[in-house]
Amino acid sequence: MDKKKERMKELVDQLNLYAYHYYTLDDPIITDGEYDKLFDELVNLEKETDFVLPNSPTTRVGGEVLEGFEKHDHIANLYSLNKAQNLEQVRDFVRKVEELVHNYNQNHEDSLPTPEYTVELKFDGLTINLTYENGDLQMATTRGNGTTGEVITAQIRTIYSIPLSISSKELMEVQGEGLMPLSRLKEYNETHEVPLKNARNAAAGALRNLDPKVTAERHLTAYFYNVGYIENREFSSQEEIFSFLQENHFKTHPYLRIAKNSEEIEKYIHEIEEYRKEIDILTDGVVIKVNDIPTREKLGYTNRFPRWAIAYKFAPEEYSTVLKEVEWNVGRTGKITPTALLEPVEIGDVTVQRATLNNMDDIRRKKVRIHSRVWIRRSNDVIPEILGTVDDDEKNTEEIKAPEECPYCHTELIRDGVHYFCPNSMTCTPQLVSRMVHFASRNAMDIEGLSEKTCEKLLSVLDITRLGQLYDLTKEDLFQLPGFKEKKSQNLLNALEKSKNVALDHFLFAIGIPEVGEKSSFDLAQHFGSLENLRKASFSDLVEVEDVGPIMAKNILEFFSDEHIVHGIDELLSKGIQIENPKPVENSEKWDKTIVLTGALENYTRKELKELLQQKGASVTSSVSKNTDYVIVGKDPGSKYDKAKELGIEIIEEDNLDEFLKR
Ligand code: NAD
Repeated sequence: MDKKKERMKELVDQLNLYAYHYYTLDDPIITDGEYDKLFDELVNLEKETDFVLPNSPTTRVGGEVLEGFEKHDHIANLYSLNKAQNLEQVRDFVRKVEELVHNYNQNHEDSLPTPEYTVELKFDGLTINLTYENGDLQMATTRGNGTTGEVITAQIRTIYSIPLSISSKELMEVQGEGLMPLSRLKEYNETHEVPLKNARNAAAGALRNLDPKVTAERHLTAYFYNVGYIENREFSSQEEIFSFLQENHFKTHPYLRIAKNSEEIEKYIHEIEEYRKEIDILTDGVVIKVNDIPTREKLGYTNRFPRWAIAYKFAPEEYSTVLKEVEWNVGRTGKITPTALLEPVEIGDVTVQRATLNNMDDIRRKKVRIHSRVWIRRSNDVIPEILGTVDDDEKNTEEIKAPEECPYCHTELIRDGVHYFCPNSMTCTPQLVSRMVHFASRNAMDIEGLSEKTCEKLLSVLDITRLGQLYDLTKEDLFQLPGFKEKKSQNLLNALEKSKNVALDHFLFAIGIPEVGEKSSFDLAQHFGSLENLRKASFSDLVEVEDVGPIMAKNILEFFSDEHIVHGIDELLSKGIQIENPKPVENSEKWDKTIVLTGALENYTRKELKELLQQKGASVTSSVSKNTDYVIVGKDPGSKYDKAKELGIEIIEEDNLDEFLKR
């Protein structure tokens, strides 16, 4: 028992220190995942020992109220949410609610309805509590310790979507979450000297800043989900609260589902897991609430959270670990990029050992040093990103030095803006290999069988250094490569032959103009109609193309005026490459539409349909927004379909597709 109590004391001290950094300073020193793990350990020990230390964080909501801010007592208390770390805990919650309703109905004359649950996004920002009286915004505060918050009215007024006056005149408190849109965070971090670690701290730091100008600079938004207090009025359900909020012009999120049981809740949790990747705000889970307000009243509250709601938390995406070393690699364009080698850390079901560092400027801005503890975030399946350092300890860490020579061929590097380049594009092997792999890739020349390994062999055994030489290869040449016999060699030669007929946009993508991706290649091909026209284009011709900015235009001009490159392209053309120029876009005016595809199509591949639509002048994008004109839906569509329905966007089923394409 004593050992357990000792551990509890240790945990309470640790958690209180972490909470101070998180809630008071808005600058956490451990990740939420790590915090939650320790918190759970403490909750379990408290249950086991039936003993709670008076300063335990399990007895309170949030943190201290900051000095410097005026204090304000909320009319109604604000609460935290009980957490479910897995689906079993959600099922438990549902069972408990059902049990209570059943018991109540057995013992009372009036009866509670069969429980229903709202399923909402759990926004990861800062809780805000707004007081309106006579229809005017009187006061805005933080949640603080649940009873008393900090007054942040001036800061809140910088959020333009928050109504300063509303049509309902009752005295009320409205609750929501202040958030920094992810696109705004990205933009901010690209343009400011000191980057913000994540959207949660960015929003909290902005709202709890004494200078409202700082708040305004972060372009926050806010979503509302509750009326905590209202004079002379009672709501019957969460749905009614949402309608009330909408009628009064509060921004509510369009994602709201009503579930009847655990299975439906789980279905929506999975849906949100996908959907949250598409939206511009940070979410860290799903909030499940009993819809019926009288039932809520029977369930009541603990001192920290309501018993009628639960937050299902997603697996954390942010972790911290130690940066061991930096490795510099050479890319297709000769750009030297740093990769951080990390102490291995488990994120979900993968072990992460490497993370992107972008460039020296990024390293300096994020104050990353060798041996420093860094925050990393893994989003989707891409290589994780380093967000910043946990602290700025300079004593036990070492500076990361910019490389002076190419890590592969040792040529002296040149600096262009924030990047370093190896100028040896002729014989620096990694550059050649990645150029060749890119050239052969599916959306470029589509040369099946020309893998990275084969490219390496072509370079080391046959000394191939120019792309044009690929088309001179003979079977005898290929026989010299390890593993290449009759069939494999013939297949590669056939694939090379086939690749000679290529659409202009694929060719443009294949030759690797810096920064010109698939979409820009397509736009350039459509606009100029032929390689010749593009080569002759001036700066002002180029910037006329949609999405081609001055930097890309400059890159294109430099690319086509480089003697080696021009020679390389002419060599390719001399090998019999036939470029198919695009057909002019039909009815471009009529088809100036934005279209999203979702679900599996039977009669088209995604790529085919995308090309067909683009051919007609439409722009095909990946996420549904109010700017989307149509959503084409195949089998088993994802959340894009629901979002389209919610936003009232015209939906085209595959059966009607042919008809649609004739419009
Ligand atoms: P919480 O933020 O996880 O959940 C409660 C809050 O969720 C509510 O106050 C509300 O503002 C918000 N919320 C978002 N969407 C909502 C919706 N649709 N409906 C209702 N409420 C919604 O809990 P908390 O008590 O504020 O904070 C605890 C969490 O903070 C911990 O789980 C941990 O992850 C993090 N924390 C981290 C550290 C750290 O050092 N990293 C320290 C302390 C706390």
